[in-house]
Order: sequence, then C-alpha cells, then structure tokens
Amino acid sequence: MQRRIFDADHEAFRDTVRTFLAKEVLPHYEQWEKDGITSRDAWRAAGRQGLLGLAVPEEYGGGGNTDFRYAAVLAEEFTRAGAPGLALGLHNDIIGPYLVNLGTEEQKRRWLPGFCSGETITAIAMTEPGAGSDLQGIRTTAEDRGDHWLLNGSKTFISNGILADLVIVVARTSPEGGAHGLSLLVVERGAEGFERGRNLDKIGQKAQDTAELFFHDVRVPKENLLGELGGGFVHLMNHLAQERLAIAMAGIAAAEHLLEITTAYVKEREAFGRPLSKLQHIRFEIAEMATECAVTRTFVDRCITDHSDGQLDHVHASMAKWWATELQKRVADRCLQLHGGYGYMTEYRVARAFTDGRIQTIYGGTTEIMKEIIGRSLLG
Ligand SMILES: Cc1cc2nc3c(=O)[nH]c(=O)nc-3n(C[C@H](O)[C@H](O)[C@H](O)COP(=O)(O)OP(=O)(O)OC[C@H]3O[C@@H](n4cnc5c(N)ncnc54)[C@H](O)[C@@H]3O)c2cc1C
Repeated sequence: MQRRIFDADHEAFRDTVRTFLAKEVLPHYEQWEKDGITSRDAWRAAGRQGLLGLAVPEEYGGGGNTDFRYAAVLAEEFTRAGAPGLALGLHNDIIGPYLVNLGTEEQKRRWLPGFCSGETITAIAMTEPGAGSDLQGIRTTAEDRGDHWLLNGSKTFISNGILADLVIVVARTSPEGGAHGLSLLVVERGAEGFERGRNLDKIGQKAQDTAELFFHDVRVPKENLLGELGGGFVHLMNHLAQERLAIAMAGIAAAEHLLEITTAYVKEREAFGRPLSKLQHIRFEIAEMATECAVTRTFVDRCITDHSDGQLDHVHASMAKWWATELQKRVADRCLQLHGGYGYMTEYRVARAFTDGRIQTIYGGTTEIMKEIIGRSLLG
C-alpha cells in the first residue's frame, strides 16, 4: 500500500539520513557495540548534518520545523540500518520538547545551541530502583536551600546515562506524596556529587549507554528548575504522548524491515528440494505478518500526521505504542524462527533485531501501562 504521508522534501531528508548513516554510523557501529557506547564525534557530526534539534526554533540553532514526519524518517532509517544505539530520537523527540516547551528564554539560550550542535548530549531520568511504571513512587528529593536545590537520590536504566552532559531529573521538591510535589531539575555534567554508576550490560542495543545515576548533596542552581515548581508529573504526562509515538514509529519500521529481510531469505533458502517460500506454512507466516504490518502502518502513519497537526491525544499514542511494539516483538520472533539456526547467529540481522527490539514493549511505559491508560479513558 502506497504511503501518503511524505512529500519530496521528506524523501530528500531521507537521503541525507542514509548518507549520514553510511558515513558516520555504520563503519563504527560494531566497535560501538563492543565499547557499549557511541562516540561524541558522531553526535557532533549529526549536529553538523542538521539531524539534531529538527524542531528547535532556528534562533537557538535548530531546524525550526515541527513537522513530525521528519522525525519519522529519522526513526525509520536508523531502524532499517539496525543502528538504534546512537539515540538521536531520544535526544530530539523525547528530551528536546521539554527544553523547548518548558525552558525560560535564558535556559533555552543556555542549553539549546549545544543541544543542536551535538556538544550537549541529553538524558531524562525518571526511573528509580523502586519506581518504574509507578512514577508516583519517586523518592529522589530536592530540598529548597535558598539559592539552590539540594538533590539526593538515585536513578537507574537511564539512556545516554554515561554520555549525557545535561540530565533532566525528576525529583520530589515537596514532601507531599504521589503525583504532587514532583519537579524537573536540570543537572549538568561536572556538578559536584553527581556520579554515574555502571554502564549497564544489556541483552540488546549494546551501543547505547544505559546507566545508573547517583546524586549526593548535589547543589542544583535555582535557575535550573525546568517548568513549574511541583508541576513535574503534569509535564511528564504532557510529553509522554510524543515519546510513545516515537517508540511506535521505530516499532513498525523494525517489523517491516524484518519482514522484508525474511521474505528474501525464505525465497532463497531451500529445504526438501525447493525454496522455503513454496511451503504453505511459510507462505501463511509471511502473509499474516504482511497483513499485520500493513494495518499497523496505516494507523501509525495517521498518528504521525495527527501529531504534526497537534491532534494526537495520549490515548491514541498509547494504542500506537503497545500495538506497534508488540507487533515488532511477534514479528521478530517469527522471523527468527523462519531463519532456523542462522537466525540465532548474531551476524544475521534478524538475531540482533530480536534482542535490540525486545525493550520496546517495556521502556516509555510498558504494554500493560498503555492498556491501563486506554482502559481508564474508556471505563474511568
Ligand atoms: C534499555 C532501557 C532504557 C531505559 N531508558 C530510560 C530512560 O532514559 N529514562 C528513564 O527514566 N527510564 C528509562 N528506562 C526505564 C523504563 O522506562 C522502565 O524500565 C519501565 O518504565 C518499567 O519500569 P520497571 O522496570 O520498574 O518495571 P515495573 O514497573 O516493576 O514493572 C514490572 C512488570 O509489572 C507490570 N506492571 C507494573 N504496574 C502494572 C499495573 N498497574 N498493571 C499491570 N501491570 C503492571 C509492568 O508492565 C511490567 O511487566 C529504561 C529501561 C531500559 C531497560
């Protein structure tokens, strides 16, 4: 089915992203996977290429383009290339909006130029050892000490945790419990008492640094409060729809790519004297996955255009997230099976896609939490 959401400008941007991947990412990717981290050079190259801060206003060094279809192109191409480790989407689509939408003029001037050039790599730290799905359980505290906040606590599973120069930390700024009293504080590299733990050893996305962060009496300047004091939970809820759509975009792109690879594989691989693709079971597997991908693609594309028009609500974003990522998971499993033993070998793309993709139904809100959100909207 012909996709209808892109025009010639989006396709020209796709070429730019492909060239960037071929030149700046793929030659280094295996090394990054071994190192457990990408290089800062690649981030700066992305900045020079105009791939960072697409939606950041031009006056702060960004692209000034809020058309989310460009973000979709970026996500699709990185997914197709099998290079999720260079987390430009996280930086652009998940963290950028907090700085652009909530930052004061002074904060934007201070942080956004580096954000767009690749000098300043970002992270967002919500999850704690005792609070993942249930963000109301956050225990990191920030005490008002007059001219600064005194930050104490720890976070875990933070993407870009090692590389990040600027971390948006969700902390409790008043002793009220639950969703009340949470605020967003920006902690910058070098702040005394801010320490990084291990670069965590994951089953996939190995080039992506994911880390624990520790805060021991960190003095965060008052001017680093992002958004409203006590408004942290509302700010998170307002920004999570875009995060979930971004994850869904990568989910369907991964499923489509796996299907493409596997279709080619079963046509070539022979068993019992003929290509696998001649066996009815294999044909049905491919037919079912192609149908599920086509249906999902239509829905996700509609969410992308709705979001570009400011029309996507958090319920539909949650639907897109759980559906597309669960599809990705099913397709990855079935495609690996169709590759037989080769599918288990890391040199095969399908093997890496299987492990890289597994996190998709978990981060950004688990499938179960997405269903809770949808259920609550329908049933109260
Ligand atoms: C690679 C990676 C990168 C990440 N990046 C970041 C990041 O950059 N920043 C950040 O803040 N966090 C990040 N996370 C954390 C991620 O968002 C959390 O792991 C996720 O939200 C789930 O939280 P949890 O791990 O504590 O699981 P839990 O909340 O303990 O959930 C365990 C299980 O219980 C289920 N469950 C929980 N509550 C309910 C409920 N009410 N109803 C039904 N089922 C429920 C969950 O769905 C899940 O299946 C990352 C995690 C990973 C693994």
